[in-house]
Amino acid sequence: MYSHTQNENGTYNTRCLYCFMTVASAVETEEELVVLEAHHICPERALADLLAEEMAAAAHAQHPHNQG
Ligand SMILES: [Zn+2]
Repeated sequence: MYSHTQNENGTYNTRCLYCFMTVASAVETEEELVVLEAHHICPERALADLLAEEMAAAAHAQHPHNQG
């Protein structure tokens, strides 16, 4: 997820909403924004994905014995 803002001269800034890092500034086209955002390797999002995987794995491992 990214937050776009537009400068007075019509260029764009984009900021990552996971790590709040400015991914790019003074970008001239929205197409370029997409490319730059695709190249952003987000430490926060990587961590969140990892935690989600671990939680899913942990939830999968817990099978309550409710049979019978
Ligand atoms: Zn980020």
